[in-house]
Amino acid sequence: MAAAGIVLAGGKGSRMRSDVPKQYMELLGKPLLYYALKAFEDSDVESVVLVTAEGDEAYCRKELVERFGFTKVVAIVAGGGERYASVWNGLKCLKEYSPDYVLIHDGARPLVTAELINRLLTETEHYEACVAGMPVKDTIQMTDGEGNITLTPKRDSLWIAQTPQSFRFSLAYDAYEHLMQEEEINVTDDAMVVGMYSDIPIRMVRGSYKNIKVTTPEDLVLAEGFLK
Ligand code: C5P
Repeated sequence: MAAAGIVLAGGKGSRMRSDVPKQYMELLGKPLLYYALKAFEDSDVESVVLVTAEGDEAYCRKELVERFGFTKVVAIVAGGGERYASVWNGLKCLKEYSPDYVLIHDGARPLVTAELINRLLTETEHYEACVAGMPVKDTIQMTDGEGNITLTPKRDSLWIAQTPQSFRFSLAYDAYEHLMQEEEINVTDDAMVVGMYSDIPIRMVRGSYKNIKVTTPEDLVLAEGFLK
């Protein structure tokens, strides 16, 4: 069964407070984005679309795809203003390759492994929609925006959603196609989008506590520590 990956690197990374966009910052001498692309290269996924910020396509081709010889990257496309728009550009690009499955991954998660990618793929052959995640360790509380706690959900049902998230391709494509017709869009997660437009059960697949999203400067230290 043919599977494709979308690796997202179209964000501005403004929470990193750095001059270099975070996806190109070096981790142990290699650009952060290298690590996710390498995991996909080593996995059972057949083709990868890399989504970059507009104007970064040539840089990524030279400094990542050519420099490290990634053979599975079939296209580099520009992203959109929000994560969901970048995902949609990746899905539209993949349509001509007609994959059976798609794994959508944040390029900002360098600790993803080929093992996790392959395990998600196997699960998706049974369940159609799967999300890598981990049980939360802390108690999570909801607030009303003024600092008052309104709800404390039971911890044992709470999981942190990570990426990759994997789907039967047409399920993800159709959901995003619907989403893009909405006037107001407020989504941060792919499973959330699939859940909005289908009632297919979405499986939580155990990822890893190491599979962090590098967002703030402290995360760089953590990621380097895990990679060592
Ligand atoms: O902003 P957030 O932390 O949710 O970003 C998650 C991933 O989505 C990152 O890898 C980022 O580069 C990517 N992204 C994107 N296009 C955007 C915003 C974020 O590809 N417009």
